[in-house]
Amino acid sequence: MPRFYVTTPIYYVNDKPHIGHTYTTIVADILARWHRLIGEDVFFLTGTDENSQKTVQAAHQKKEKDIQKYTDQMSSMWQMTWDSLGFSHNDFIRTTEERHKKGVIKLFEKIQKKGDIYKGKYKGFYCSGCEAFIKESDLARGKCPLHKTKPDFIEEENLFFKLTNYKDKLLDHIKKHPEFIQPETRRNEVVSYIETALEDVSISRPNKGWGIPLPQDPKQVFYVWFDALINYLTGIGYGQDETKFSKWWAKDCPIVHLMAKDIIKFHCVIWPAMLMSSGLKLPDVIFAHGFFTIDEEKISKSLGNVIDPIFLSQKYGIDPVRYFVLREIPFGQDGDFSTKKLEERYNGDLANDLGNLVSRTLTMIEKYFESKVPAAGRPTKEEIETLVSSTWKKAEQGLDKFQFDKVLVAIWQLIDFANTYIEKNKPWELAKKDEKKLAQVLYNLTESLRHIAWMIYAFMPETAEKILSQLNVLESERKLSFDQIKKWGGLKPGTKIKKGKPLFPRI
Ligand SMILES: [Zn+2]
Repeated sequence: MPRFYVTTPIYYVNDKPHIGHTYTTIVADILARWHRLIGEDVFFLTGTDENSQKTVQAAHQKKEKDIQKYTDQMSSMWQMTWDSLGFSHNDFIRTTEERHKKGVIKLFEKIQKKGDIYKGKYKGFYCSGCEAFIKESDLARGKCPLHKTKPDFIEEENLFFKLTNYKDKLLDHIKKHPEFIQPETRRNEVVSYIETALEDVSISRPNKGWGIPLPQDPKQVFYVWFDALINYLTGIGYGQDETKFSKWWAKDCPIVHLMAKDIIKFHCVIWPAMLMSSGLKLPDVIFAHGFFTIDEEKISKSLGNVIDPIFLSQKYGIDPVRYFVLREIPFGQDGDFSTKKLEERYNGDLANDLGNLVSRTLTMIEKYFESKVPAAGRPTKEEIETLVSSTWKKAEQGLDKFQFDKVLVAIWQLIDFANTYIEKNKPWELAKKDEKKLAQVLYNLTESLRHIAWMIYAFMPETAEKILSQLNVLESERKLSFDQIKKWGGLKPGTKIKKGKPLFPRI
């Protein structure tokens, strides 16, 4: 069975999930659901990054002396949020787990054996917001350009990873695999960084009682990024369950890392070099999406509710939020999240277009055919059938290329076509004069609804299941292969529909 492995970054536990983290996780969930739908064996990993100094600072601010206890509470809050939003991840990795620590040490020892680790002195600026060293030339008036805070000046003896050994290999790999870093703007950014600014990186810090101690020198802990990146391996069994690991970290299993654009350097430079050093394959795609503004403002805590995914999903439902962010913002670009625009799409695309199509069609089946799907009658290949099949093609192509907005546009063209098909054929008039044609029209509409439900399934799983339930085929459809699902004519005449509540009550 073909396999597919998709990850989100692991999230810092010192913060609450906001719409930005939720966005990355929604996209991972869409890819996971889509690849399962087309018949692949999927592993979807997310989790929390816990060994950071930020964790310690946040615990202190909350007057919690027991850092692990604070970390446990925060991590379980993240897990509960993801569960309540219905994400379909297969595992949730925490970097304070034993299974993770074992894998980190294993990978470190491999890199060390290769001769890529040396002791050196580090002198320079460190931003704890970035959890990274910053070059003096990158400071803006002495401050971190991202966090607007003054970095600490640090001078200490650390272990270094010979990142510069991999300069040519990295450039070569990126050149040979244009799909490796997406979108293209990020690829150019990474290439120019490697060409002009690559330096060896420090991978250890003094042990202040938090983090994963180095095996040979417990006075030092692993630098949090070195440790965190390895979650992509330990989450699938590295250093613990080699059979499982070799199933997912394999040549013939596409590996996709998703993230926001601010952490691309770690993922596209340090991480692939670590993998090269240890002899493991590189991920196939590293896709970095853009940043959100909220009503044209930068995301900040003061925006409160607007960025709280639980609040949003309680107010609008998680499916409309998923639909909105994917439809509104081309994946990879920056975009604006506004509840006004969300409500416009909700009332327009969802309530008017999709919701109405479902409700009108099923009402007519109730009225004219005693709630039973009529037989199609004439075996003519109508335009709507051709459109369904070309929409499936567009969905497959678009999802392969991470062009989620284009897929949704194509599906909504089909929905619009179906609504116009009702207007054109006027079933209420056919009911008086041409029952055969009426049956044909209504069969085509209900069968199209079945296809539309599956087309939106990865994007809006709850809504898709509601439509399939109203068609009374949810359980039988689940057993079908992707080829069977896509085939026209899957809905059996005589199926007794169960019209439900409106899918999207207007706001
Ligand atoms: Zn910073």
